[in-house]
Amino acid sequence: MDRNDQIRDSMRQIISPGSDKDIVSLGLIKKLQHDDQGHVAFTLELTTAAVPHREQLKKACEESVSKIPWVTSVSIAMSAQPRAKPNPLRVKSPGLDHVKHIIAVSSCKGGVGKSTTAVNLAYSLAKRGDKVGLFDADIYGPSFPILVSPRETELYMRGEFIQPLEYEGVLLMSFGFVANQAGGGPAIMRGPMVTQVINQLLTTTEWGELDYLVIDMPPGTGDIQLTLTQLIPITAAVIVTTPQQLSFVDVVKGIQMFDKLKVPTVAVVENMSYFQCPNCASRHYIFGQGARKKLTEQFGIQNTFEIPLYPEIARLSDSGTPVVLADKDGVMASLYGEIASSVVQEISKITSGGFAPPAVEFDPDRGMIIKLSNGDERTCSPANLRRACRCAHCIEEFSGKKILDPASIPESITPTHISPMGNYAVAISWSDGHSSSIYSYDLLLQLAEPPAG
Ligand code: ADP
Repeated sequence: MDRNDQIRDSMRQIISPGSDKDIVSLGLIKKLQHDDQGHVAFTLELTTAAVPHREQLKKACEESVSKIPWVTSVSIAMSAQPRAKPNPLRVKSPGLDHVKHIIAVSSCKGGVGKSTTAVNLAYSLAKRGDKVGLFDADIYGPSFPILVSPRETELYMRGEFIQPLEYEGVLLMSFGFVANQAGGGPAIMRGPMVTQVINQLLTTTEWGELDYLVIDMPPGTGDIQLTLTQLIPITAAVIVTTPQQLSFVDVVKGIQMFDKLKVPTVAVVENMSYFQCPNCASRHYIFGQGARKKLTEQFGIQNTFEIPLYPEIARLSDSGTPVVLADKDGVMASLYGEIASSVVQEISKITSGGFAPPAVEFDPDRGMIIKLSNGDERTCSPANLRRACRCAHCIEEFSGKKILDPASIPESITPTHISPMGNYAVAISWSDGHSSSIYSYDLLLQLAEPPAG
C-alpha cells in the first residue's frame, strides 16, 4: 500500500466532532507529506478555529500515525476551513469576504424573543472562542441600541467601509445605530428599498475575519425576508418561536421559507416556553407542551430548545447587557451555550459534507424508495406511508388520536409530488388530493421494510 494511503488509513477511526464521519472521509487531512526518514507532516483542517476538542483530535491523529512502523515523527498543523464559495448569483459583498459562516435568526412574528436569542447566541459563540459579528437586519424595529451597550456609538467610515461597533468582543451593526447618528427614526420604506438598505449596510460594514456572523432577521416570512435570504450567503437558520398553538404553523412557514433557498434550519428555539417558579422551583408550562415533540417527529429536527420565561432577561435587555454575559455561569448562559454548541456542530456537518439526507423516490413497481447516502435502499408501500400521515387533518392535534380511517386509503394510492422539507424531512402530496403529509427521515426508515438479509 502507498505510504500516503497507510497514513490516511491509520486515521480512519477518528470521527470529526459534530459529524458521524471520520476525518479522512471528510477530506480534513490536507497537504500530506512524508520523507525517507519517516517524517510525516500534514494539516488538519477544521470548520473553525474553535472546533471543540481540537487538541484531543490532534493528539488522536499523532497517536494513530505514530503506530505505523516506519514513521519516526509526526508534525500536524491546524487550520480552519475557508468560507464556502459565495453563490455567484448573489450580489458582490466585499464586507463579508472574510466571514466564514452566516447564521440567520428568524421568527414569523415580532415580540417572540428573536433579537434576544440572536444576541445571546452571538455572545455564547464568542464565549467559545470564536470571532463573532452581530447584525441587526430588523430595520423597522432595530433593537441592538437597547440590547447591547457599545462604549463607542459613533459610526465612521474607512475608505468605502463602515466600521462596526464593538461590545465585549463582538462586532455590531444595526440600522438603529445609523438612525441614531443621523438623528432620525426608521424611515418609511417600501419592501424592495428595505432589502436594498439592509443589504447595503450589511455588505459595506467592514466585518473583517469572522467565524460567525449572526443576523437578526426582520420578523416574518414575506418578500423582504425571502429576498434577504436570497441576497445573503446564509449558512444556516435558527427559528425562534413561542409555545402558543399557532406557533407550530409559524415554524413550518419559517422552515419552508429557508427551504426555498436551500438554507438548512439547524435549530428551533421555543422561547418563553415555561415559567420556572422561584418559590417551588417547579416548571409551569403555561401554554402546554408538545411542540418540540411534534417538531422532532414531523421534521426530524433534533435540535429544539426551550428557553424559559425569565424576568431577568427583560430587565437585563433593557440595561444593554445580554444575560449570558451578566451571569456567565448561570442557568441561562448554560442554556444558550447548548444552543450555540449545537448550531456549531450542525454547521460543521453542513460544511464538511458530513450531512447527506436520503433521497425519496417513487417507482410504480417497487413503491416508495428511500435511498440512503451510503448507497443502501429501503422500500415502503405508498399506502402505508399515506396512512401514517401525522398532519392535523389526519391526527387530532392535541390528543394525538387518529382522525384518518386507514381503511379509507386504497392500496393503489401513489404520490404526486415529493420534495425535501428542511434538512430532515420530506413533504409528499398524494393522488387522493391530500397534500400536507410531512415525514421525517427517521419516521420513513421506521415505516420502511426491514433491510433484506
Ligand atoms: P423580537 O426580536 O422577537 O421582537 P425581543 O427579543 O425584542 O423580541 O423580545 C421582546 C421582549 O421580550 C423584550 O423585552 C425581551 O427582553 C423580552 N424577552 C425575550 N425573551 C424573554 C424570556 N425568555 N424571558 C423574559 N423576557 C423575554
